[in-house]
Amino acid sequence: MTIKLYDTYARETREFVPINDNEPVGLYCCGPTVYNYAHIGNLRTYIFEDVLRRVLEFNDYRVKHVVNITDVGHLVSDADDGEDKMAAGAARMGKTAWEIAEIYTEAFMQDLTHLNIKTPDILCKATDHIAEQITAIKQIEEKDLCYITSDGVYFDTSKDPDYGYLARLDVKGLQEGARVDKGEKRNSTDFALWKFSPQDEQRQMEWESPWGKGFPGWHIECSAMANKYLGALFDIHCGGKDHIPIHHSNEIAQAQACYGTRLSNYWMHGYFLQTDKNKMSKSSGEFLRTETLIEKGYDPIAYRFFCLLAHYRSDIAFSWENLDSATIALNRLREAFYSWDDGGSILDDYAQRFRTHVNDDLNTSQAIALVWELVKNNDAESADKKTTLVHFDQVLGLQLTEWAPAATAAIPHDITALAQTRQDARKAKDWAAADAARDAIAAKGYEVVDTPDGFDIKKI
Ligand code: AMP
Ligand code: ZN
Repeated sequence: MTIKLYDTYARETREFVPINDNEPVGLYCCGPTVYNYAHIGNLRTYIFEDVLRRVLEFNDYRVKHVVNITDVGHLVSDADDGEDKMAAGAARMGKTAWEIAEIYTEAFMQDLTHLNIKTPDILCKATDHIAEQITAIKQIEEKDLCYITSDGVYFDTSKDPDYGYLARLDVKGLQEGARVDKGEKRNSTDFALWKFSPQDEQRQMEWESPWGKGFPGWHIECSAMANKYLGALFDIHCGGKDHIPIHHSNEIAQAQACYGTRLSNYWMHGYFLQTDKNKMSKSSGEFLRTETLIEKGYDPIAYRFFCLLAHYRSDIAFSWENLDSATIALNRLREAFYSWDDGGSILDDYAQRFRTHVNDDLNTSQAIALVWELVKNNDAESADKKTTLVHFDQVLGLQLTEWAPAATAAIPHDITALAQTRQDARKAKDWAAADAARDAIAAKGYEVVDTPDGFDIKKI
């Protein structure tokens, strides 16, 4: 069965055809800038990418999933002035940039575990790939597509006739209407490939280069590492929709210069999680982490379930009420699943319809509607329903088989002792003592019931 995916580059849904039948599908996803924790908005994008990976695997493709860790070079402003986010984050924390990179990378891995997001096959740090980035900048320089200013090496976007095609940017309009001070940049859309360390300052993260001591720009990191691990043209490149006009447009311009490709055959983008009509961002607004959810008593998988209820190409509004509803629904599903028998077989009709939904540009909301249809189907054997849901959960990732109801509250020790006294009294035919023990148990809110093997205690 075919998979259809929406490709932002083509602005249409296209049937997925892998570049190479004998190789795993190459999937590159822009990863976190580790100057702060990931918020649940960022995590929505990683959940979308995880579902994409799972759908490919569900269709028997092998996948090579690469995620970068931006631990240098992402500037506070898109205009390429301002501080490196890592240096700013380190100053805020009173630690080194290297230390905070480690802390937030570890926290990111923890987030992936909490949300049952599969670990990428390759997790690559920008700071481990400085040589590859310098090589890519040299290739751009050889083609005379960059220039040097007093603070860095810049890509000259005016020399790329296709610049901004991904975003359908009106480049001419942007240049004419640019209100930002271009500084020494020739065009407002030009971007840094390499930034020089300030003369009078020893940076924590800096490297020698043919152009002078400094650090790489953010965009070159992704083009260079994607090329290293997946080749000059691979299958799918993902990120949040905010990356379309700048980061991914710049990645494509660099790849065009270095390798003569648009880097990826499909470009896919996850839409935003919003709070109170604003996007959730690391620098402003409400900042919610998976840890925040856990502290408030929520199961992070309920957040994953909440994300699956909407299509990845629509913005969603976060509210505690919405998360409450998702939690209730998920628990209903878990309880139904738990109550069913084991050992059934997959219901073919449902399996086919499920595949049709998820292969239709990851239509998870339709897939969840089908899950409820299955739950409510009283004609099907419960064991078959269970096995069918286990099959679906390969894509949904709700860890249904791992869930069990919370154990019923333990019976206090004094109640068990009283029940034992009552049983001993009955054996000794001391009915008065047995009744007295029963009354004492009842007075404490419990009931003792005789069973063939002894007794059971229940809370009244
Ligand atoms: P960052 O760590 O800021 O580079 O972002 C990591 C990923 O999260 C990128 O793919 C962003 O496009 C994405 N992202 C940022 N904010 C949101 C949001 N509010 N909702 C969904 N995705 C987001
Ligand atoms: Zn990237």
